[in-house]
Amino acid sequence: MSPGKSLLATGASEREEILADLLAHGRFLSGLSSVGVAPPSAGAERVGASGEAAVGPVGRSGEDAAVALAAIREDLGDCRRCKLASGRKKIVFGQGNPNAELMFVGEAPGSEEDEQGLAFVGRAGQLLTDIIEKGMKMRRADVWIGNVLKCRPPQNRNPEPDEILSCQPFLEAQIRAIRPRVLVGLGKFAAQWLLRTAEPISRLRGRIGERDGIPVMPTYHPAYLLRNPAGKKDVWEDMKAVLRLLGRPVPGPD
Ligand code: SF4
Repeated sequence: MSPGKSLLATGASEREEILADLLAHGRFLSGLSSVGVAPPSAGAERVGASGEAAVGPVGRSGEDAAVALAAIREDLGDCRRCKLASGRKKIVFGQGNPNAELMFVGEAPGSEEDEQGLAFVGRAGQLLTDIIEKGMKMRRADVWIGNVLKCRPPQNRNPEPDEILSCQPFLEAQIRAIRPRVLVGLGKFAAQWLLRTAEPISRLRGRIGERDGIPVMPTYHPAYLLRNPAGKKDVWEDMKAVLRLLGRPVPGPD
């Protein structure tokens, strides 16, 4: 695959081959944690410079999840593990409640996020806040919000496979640390990463899948909704399903 060519811009067979590599790598990393270091339910392990799990389990309860996340952040450091490091302003680690029941995963930081070092703080972020607070009647501070990549790709291009391989151990460790009850994949890239599939978002959206035993709801990215407001209706259906999974009240007529 040529540099600058996105995963989703490749042909079908090439894409399958790349995804097979990604999945194999993902299984390898998952294997490290489940065999030797920390079972998913036990919290986070630390991730070494080469992406390997490096430190033993941290119990996932109360402040332990926060401690585990702090250890992951420390391991990330001033990360230079992929080529995105050269163009970023700030690493966007993700933010929210370490004990969140609900975790949103997007694709990568945009320009506003790159400036502030925070996930989903631009226009799309405001829409996500509205979905959470006005729609779901939850507090944004009570959920966790992050991305597959922690640094902004140039001109917001799609993530490339080598970047995902370098960065994914940290998101995997964050998911193990937070251990949310439900994951929401925002947009095709996050949904495909969470579900380990190359299926298009048009087919994935609204169908509950699973990652490491955690239910995953794939839905449209808020940035897509800014361009296509008609998609909000579908997203609201998806968020109602998420609320049901969480055992929370579903606002409005059901
Ligand atoms: S995208 Fe991830 S792996 Fe690449 S430099 Fe940023 S933090 Fe490191």
